[in-house]
Amino acid sequence: MKKTAFFLASLLLGSAATFAQMTCVVAHRGYWDAEGSAQNSIRALVKADSIDCYGSEFDVWMTADKKLVVNHDPDINGIHIETAKAKDVLAQKLSNGESVPTLEQYLDSSLSLKPRLILELKPHADKKHEEDAVKAIVKMVKERGLEANMEYITFSKPGFINLIKYAPKGTPILYLAGELTPREIKAMGGTGIDYHYSVLKKNPWWIDECHALNLRVNAWTVNDEKTMLWCIEHGVDIITTNAPELLQQLIREK
Ligand code: MG
Repeated sequence: MKKTAFFLASLLLGSAATFAQMTCVVAHRGYWDAEGSAQNSIRALVKADSIDCYGSEFDVWMTADKKLVVNHDPDINGIHIETAKAKDVLAQKLSNGESVPTLEQYLDSSLSLKPRLILELKPHADKKHEEDAVKAIVKMVKERGLEANMEYITFSKPGFINLIKYAPKGTPILYLAGELTPREIKAMGGTGIDYHYSVLKKNPWWIDECHALNLRVNAWTVNDEKTMLWCIEHGVDIITTNAPELLQQLIREK
């Protein structure tokens, strides 16, 4: 009887570990819904580390004078980042009092932390400028020895093509926009899809198709329990969420 109980417990623990391994949690714009935190702040990256997230996602733009900065929207306090000077962008404050981080500061802060860095290249209006951003990002990452800790995502198709071209072979590069099939992603040299969960719900066979093609599947931005469970049960590899602790709890319970 004791043996049976032990066997069942091991089986349960084993399957929980398998699920935990299978479903990775990415904090969307870092773990910003936490004390003292703000979206895309360095504090949000530190908070994502404090709860052992697999990854911390953040958004990157390049200013007119070619400084890489971390921010979600194309504008901050009326300043259009892509056409602004870095000094004007970096003078802006986040809601937690931090200044807008440069990518340099963000990467340097990550050096002592565990989460993988899920860098979203924002779609720039000037595609030459965007290509320069990709080259500068890849160079900056290399200089810090962070290549093995990076994953890249983007809505920009030219940006996706350039990330595949300039990032080292084997770097995870996932496409966000949702209109390309797994076969098209594979043919382009991408390593996976990172689609809104509604796209995956509409095309659930894409999940198995990706796995058959050795592509990873990430769903964004999943904040409610029901959709989290749907993703876990359908074999989504990575879930990006604003509620990382809730998702971690569900994975543990599965
Ligand atoms: Mg993003």
